[in-house]
Amino acid sequence: MDCIFCKIVKGEIPCFKVYENDKVLAFADINPINPGHTLIIPKAHAENLYEISDEDLTAVALASKLVIQGIKDALDPIGVACLQLNGKGANQVVMHYHLHLIPRGKDDPELPVSGWELKPGDMKAIEETAKKISSVIKQ
Ligand code: AMP
Ligand code: ZN
Repeated sequence: MDCIFCKIVKGEIPCFKVYENDKVLAFADINPINPGHTLIIPKAHAENLYEISDEDLTAVALASKLVIQGIKDALDPIGVACLQLNGKGANQVVMHYHLHLIPRGKDDPELPVSGWELKPGDMKAIEETAKKISSVIKQ
């Protein structure tokens, strides 16, 4: 499989490593939105949230606590966005699960995706859509 993040895990492509354990790798995004923009990935290939195993998802979540604390201690940001895209329609470009940790420094502009306008929706439609999703969730 031709997956750039699998190649990073195997050491075939270099990265600026931030953190690693047996299940996950965190490294610097090479097109950073802001300094400190970091990606956390499972070492085992999974395309996105639909596919990732519970065990790897847990490992990514736990690693995100360590890495966000590192970002806070090292860079003193005013906020950090955790962003994860699923599918090309959501602008997922690399099809190997990755969680973005994107710090915002005090002089940085507002982070993309984090500043949408709050416009009240149609409560009936919101309720119907919530019920539609809820009714098909499999435990
Ligand atoms: P997305 O799939 O839209 O969530 O974003 C993929 C992210 O991976 C982008 O922010 C890219 O800058 C980043 N990226 C792509 N290739 C590399 C690489 N070789 N090393 C580090 N980051 C990368
Ligand atoms: Zn992969």
